[in-house]
Amino acid sequence: MTLTHQALLEVRGLRASAAGKEILKGLDLSVNAGEVHAIMGPNGSGKSTLSNVLMGHPKYEVTAGSVRFRGEDLLKLKPEERARKGLFLAFQYPVEVPGVKTNYFLKTAYNAIHANGSSTQVLEGSGKDQINVFKFQQLLGQKAKELQLSEELANRFLNHGFSGGEKKKSELLQMAVLEPKLAILDEIDSGLDIDAVKSVAETIQRLHSKENSLLLITHYQRLLDYITPDRVHILWDGRIVQSGGAGLAKTLESKGYDWVKEMVASEEASLT
Ligand code: ADP
Ligand code: MG
Repeated sequence: MTLTHQALLEVRGLRASAAGKEILKGLDLSVNAGEVHAIMGPNGSGKSTLSNVLMGHPKYEVTAGSVRFRGEDLLKLKPEERARKGLFLAFQYPVEVPGVKTNYFLKTAYNAIHANGSSTQVLEGSGKDQINVFKFQQLLGQKAKELQLSEELANRFLNHGFSGGEKKKSELLQMAVLEPKLAILDEIDSGLDIDAVKSVAETIQRLHSKENSLLLITHYQRLLDYITPDRVHILWDGRIVQSGGAGLAKTLESKGYDWVKEMVASEEASLT
């Protein structure tokens, strides 16, 4: 038997709409295990839509194309099944949840993904093979330590009163506990000052291993000053119009997006 190469994530010709408007217009993307990819694009190009569609957000309707993740048809799976398969999404705007402590939230998420039993059992805390509270606290402490984050972060109310950087780090602690195969970090650098970007980037570095892949979605290249991606893709009007190595991010930094616009316009002109 010959082993054929299979990408971790394989997106082909993906088209998706929201509120009757087409946003993704034939997107192709392939990510291998252990790789770091960056998706860069101007505001409104469809970056967050791509993350939402991959996670199965109900507001977005997929009208064409396919997504395979770990050899399976991702689009057939419910959002929680996608998470259980090893997909993780850190939102651009983390929500504050007063009254919910991060560690409780994390334990529920951990059990929902790793424990056997239905999600209702998990929420009621009666499923089989649930991690007990002491073991979980231990795991959380160990992960926080590995990431050089304070355990105190996990004991505070979920994102409530967190600084921008702390919110992002609390999300990265979630990622550390859930151990996804592919983490999508949508503008994890947004709203952070330069020191916070550096510190969040260092936490991401510590989280990355051969065992996981990262999809870093960002408008600016500054995050990529600290994390060198294997591939950089430019998203423009719902399609990936250019891919390259880490140097492509530098080109965008120095030349902006105008040349992309010209490139796309001249390609379209040559087709008509
Ligand atoms: P980006 O993250 O690259 O800034 P988005 O994916 O958020 O871009 O948005 C791309 C385009 O799709 C924008 O014009 C936006 O207004 C529109 N859009 C995104 N989500 C929705 C939605 N749920 N309903 C209607 N329009 C949407
Ligand atoms: Mg966005």
